[in-house]
Amino acid sequence: MAKKYVYYFGDGKAEGTGNMKELLGGKGAGLAEMTNLKVSVPPGFTISTEACVEYYKRGKAYPPGMMDQALQALKRIERSMNAGFGDPANPLLVSVRSGARASMPGMMDTVLNVGLTTKTVEGLAAKTRNERFAQDSYRRFISMFGSIVMGVSREHFEDILKHKKQDLGVTQDTHLDAKALKELVASYKELVKEETKRDFPDDPFDQLRMAINAVFSSWYGARAVTYRRLYGIPDSWGTAVNVVAMVFGNMGETSGTGVAFTRDPATGANKFFGECLMNAQGEDVVAGIRTPLPVSQLAKYVPQAYKDLEATYKKLERHYRDMLDLEFTIQEGKLYMLQTRVGKRTGIAAVRIAVDMVKEGVISQREALQRIGPDQLAQYLYPIFDAKEESHYTALGKGLPAGPGAAAGKIALTPDRAVEMKAGGVRVVLVRQETSPDDIHGMNAALGFLTARGGMTSHAAVVARQMGKVCVAGCDAVEVLDTQTVRIGTQTFREGEYLSINGSTGNVYGGDIPVVESEVIQVLQGKLEPSKSDKYRLFDTVLKWADEVRRLKVRANADVPEQARIARGFGAEGIGLCRTEHMFFAEDRIPIMQKMILAKQREEREKYLDQLLPLQKQDFIGLYREMKGYPVTIRLLDPPLHEFLPKREELMVEIAQLELTGGNQSVIEEKKRLLARVEELHEFNPMLGLRGCRLGITMPEITRMQARAIIEAACELAKEGKKIVPEIMIPLVGMVSEMKAQKDLVREVAAETMKRYNMKLSYLVGTMIELPRAAVTADRIAEEAEFFSFGTNDLTQTTFGFSRDDAAKFVDYYKTANILETDPFAVLDREGVGSLMRTAIAAGRKTRPDIKLGICGEHGGDPSSVEFCHQLGLDYVSCSPYRVAIARLAAAQAAIAEQDAKKTTPAKKSATHTSATSSRSGARAKSRPKRTKR
Ligand code: PEP
Ligand code: MG
Repeated sequence: MAKKYVYYFGDGKAEGTGNMKELLGGKGAGLAEMTNLKVSVPPGFTISTEACVEYYKRGKAYPPGMMDQALQALKRIERSMNAGFGDPANPLLVSVRSGARASMPGMMDTVLNVGLTTKTVEGLAAKTRNERFAQDSYRRFISMFGSIVMGVSREHFEDILKHKKQDLGVTQDTHLDAKALKELVASYKELVKEETKRDFPDDPFDQLRMAINAVFSSWYGARAVTYRRLYGIPDSWGTAVNVVAMVFGNMGETSGTGVAFTRDPATGANKFFGECLMNAQGEDVVAGIRTPLPVSQLAKYVPQAYKDLEATYKKLERHYRDMLDLEFTIQEGKLYMLQTRVGKRTGIAAVRIAVDMVKEGVISQREALQRIGPDQLAQYLYPIFDAKEESHYTALGKGLPAGPGAAAGKIALTPDRAVEMKAGGVRVVLVRQETSPDDIHGMNAALGFLTARGGMTSHAAVVARQMGKVCVAGCDAVEVLDTQTVRIGTQTFREGEYLSINGSTGNVYGGDIPVVESEVIQVLQGKLEPSKSDKYRLFDTVLKWADEVRRLKVRANADVPEQARIARGFGAEGIGLCRTEHMFFAEDRIPIMQKMILAKQREEREKYLDQLLPLQKQDFIGLYREMKGYPVTIRLLDPPLHEFLPKREELMVEIAQLELTGGNQSVIEEKKRLLARVEELHEFNPMLGLRGCRLGITMPEITRMQARAIIEAACELAKEGKKIVPEIMIPLVGMVSEMKAQKDLVREVAAETMKRYNMKLSYLVGTMIELPRAAVTADRIAEEAEFFSFGTNDLTQTTFGFSRDDAAKFVDYYKTANILETDPFAVLDREGVGSLMRTAIAAGRKTRPDIKLGICGEHGGDPSSVEFCHQLGLDYVSCSPYRVAIARLAAAQAAIAEQDAKKTTPAKKSATHTSATSSRSGARAKSRPKRTKR
């Protein structure tokens, strides 16, 4: 017997169920489930996704038995509808719709009114006693079938329609009478013949076959393929095809069609939300030609149908236990449901719906946590454009949505100007060809940044996430012409003109689009009472629930007290990485730092280090205070020294200019000395050069100063009765001997310092695991290191041999070519880097069973990577302050997933509950840090 490819539904009974999404697609499963629930659904059948897969395997031929089964099911529809497919006296029409497992809105094809022919159109007119309706349906069918199935451009049909309306002096389609529509039908058919050299098919069975083929083919349509790449949907899934008896929303004033959500998909408010059109077919709602009415208006036109719709949506929501989106048609006052599925929603709505449903006793707290994509939480944090306002603007270009949220302000093209403009009270958007560590002050002053070059992982993107700024990166349309002008698309802007960037979509607009500030941030900044913010309450509720189940601790990567404060606000349980070099980039320090680097002799270097010491100590005191007893991990200096010096080329230009314009000789000499040192420090591959612990080993006075500042700061606070246990972290260790050399130095300085203070403090000395050698010799390194923190930015770089600064150039290509599934700098590579982590953990624990383990690479804020860290048994993840909440939720989801997996009986889970962005799919837009300063 042939395999079963076709599943019938109708008259209160379906062969499929709601759990058969993989086989029947989302739409097919929904139709089957609704039928079984005795909801009013027109009869139909679903051709399975397996049939689609087979169709392609067989070089676009139907698998054996499929069409026979379809024709048998068609007979059942005929019986149920009491009409005949192709019967001129009493015609049955069907819709043919795609329906993949995962919802791919608008990506694939749908054909309505299949079965209309020169003969059946007459039958339809007679049966409905409505000639106009029959001709209208026929002309709609020809244009839809002609464009989707036969490839005639839609615009051609629209042109003919437009001219017809002009000729007759009418503006609305509904004003066309039966005669005009009949003429349109003839013109449409001529058009099809002209364009395709074929007659428009007049046999309903040919139409059905051609429509099924078109739906199968749309699985490999360009739109669908792009969508699948974007959302990681495998090609191998295929689409189902749903063939459903037509019901008509365009049969007069008591007919209509609409879409609705059981709750508001934007805000999550528990109110029925939707739009409808009377006397219309589904495509009219989507096409936006007529302005739809709020769904509640149905109560006025078709009161009984509206009552039924209300009862149906309540019944369906109760059954699915989630917010749903619905499609329906009302034919002469009778309601038919055409589709239901778990509704897509914004992050704001996802949280509200989950919290409300717990309160309503519909779902448990655990389920609520599972339904919110961790990345969706970010929508609570970023200012956003007022959607209505934004829709009035046309984007001039589109870049990567690298820092979500919205920023509108005046253009600054240099960081210095950004600072000056900000000081003058101006909202600033910094536009750069690309950003570098030298731009930090300007970036800090700006609300958001727009760059012409760079990926999701560029410097601009990483800083945006750490600072919580908006960022659109790598926007091809941008060309910075000079320090005063920039071209964006076809327009040229000067400094000071308004620009608006949407970091959630990557769109760039000219002008000043109003922005709405995030309430959560206002509460954390103390500007808004928590009790006054509903959004904050929801956000906080979810995170408290997450804290009840998670095992992983969440810390923050923070370098200055302000970041630490924000991190605490988000619930960080310590600092997992303080990159001390950031402190030296501050305006008052960089000159001292430069002098220290320029010094040839150790004694001279020490003189400048002595000047830096009190400043650095104050930094640590500030951090300790903010963290109120939570652990603070401070990493010793990591980057190559030349990063603190001016750029070689810039210096050369400056010197040449000074010489040409007769500049001050001593200034010229000073600059030349600087240039000589810059050249001396130049490295061909600074990534693998004098950085990390190699700096502290070759210039131990730097480590001494930092160790002293860390311990002195702790002693100062201890005097106030505050307990601080600093964790001193040695960067880029590859050998135990390196670790030992630095640890001995730190211990010596710590002992001296404590003696001076006459105090005894606890502190730890540990390392980052950032190099494969460190990972595979972790047992030796653990002899000296009291904790490990996985620096997965460098560990990814060194494991793959991909430069973290350059990989963006080919990673996207690799993804498109299916060589890489995800960017390993954004989503931790479990197979390779993860394997090294596993090795290091086992080896480290062998030597030191209670060794503290964490991660502080960018992956610490990526939900999929957080899940993996949970599975590895790390103690904590550390991420940028603005990702702390996301990591808390991701950690909770990881704990729940583990508990569920441990349960002997598989968790009862409805296949339709797929609304939460899974941590994996939500993981794509994370940042890859450049190695240089963030
Ligand atoms: C790392 O390499 O993962 C890390 C956290 O250090 P950095 O990004 O500062 O090199
Ligand atoms: Mg590193």
